[in-house]
Amino acid sequence: MGKLPGSLAGRLLDLLYPPVCPFCGKLSSEGICAACRKKIICVSEPRCMHCGKPLRDETQEYCQTCARRRSAIDQGRGLWLHADPVSGAVYRFKYKNKRSWGRIFAGELARQYGGQIRDWGIDEIIPIPLHASRKRQRGFNQSEVIARELSDLTGIPCRTDVLFRIRKTVPQKKLGPDGRAANLQGAFAVSRRWDACGKALLIDDIYTTGATVEKAAKMLKKAGCRNVYFLTISIGQGL
Ligand SMILES: [Zn+2]
Ligand SMILES: [Zn+2]
Repeated sequence: MGKLPGSLAGRLLDLLYPPVCPFCGKLSSEGICAACRKKIICVSEPRCMHCGKPLRDETQEYCQTCARRRSAIDQGRGLWLHADPVSGAVYRFKYKNKRSWGRIFAGELARQYGGQIRDWGIDEIIPIPLHASRKRQRGFNQSEVIARELSDLTGIPCRTDVLFRIRKTVPQKKLGPDGRAANLQGAFAVSRRWDACGKALLIDDIYTTGATVEKAAKMLKKAGCRNVYFLTISIGQGL
């Protein structure tokens, strides 16, 4: 649809693929329907000052994981708690080829964290990469879809030529915390041609143990990046 004006192309796409709510699958022109908006849990305070996981105890500053480990991440935030119906929607987005939802998710990220992105002073948005063979298999990288849309909305460049996954890894969800870190050993590489920016924003779909963004941040910093932040669509409960 390259030659069609944007609005017409949009209307044709709406006819072919009517917009549905990512959470319940019902037709919904505004994306997330009113009923689901009430069900999804937006992460708010109290949350871990570092990774942004929601906490139950208001007096706690950091989640147990962040309190214990040194991190290459400067700060991060997740949009919604990784629980039903968010977890199901993220799964379908990824594995059932619902890439059009990337615009909805990025729009929510921009609405919720636009001010935070400005405060951080982000120079470049960098999606967590998939291995080339997995991207071919799935047809797209879900994090890249969100990162590109967020770049459109914020005007901050999205870089897909910086961070690469050079080793095929087992999906993290199949492993325990120790296995996750080991699984990512040597998984990422940063392009030698990258002129490291000062402040990078990593984008991923889910944050659970944080092993993936942690490893990616380490690589970016090793390449000369000063600060690394992250945003994800869903995030686990903090303890
Ligand atoms: Zn809905
Ligand atoms: Zn934390």
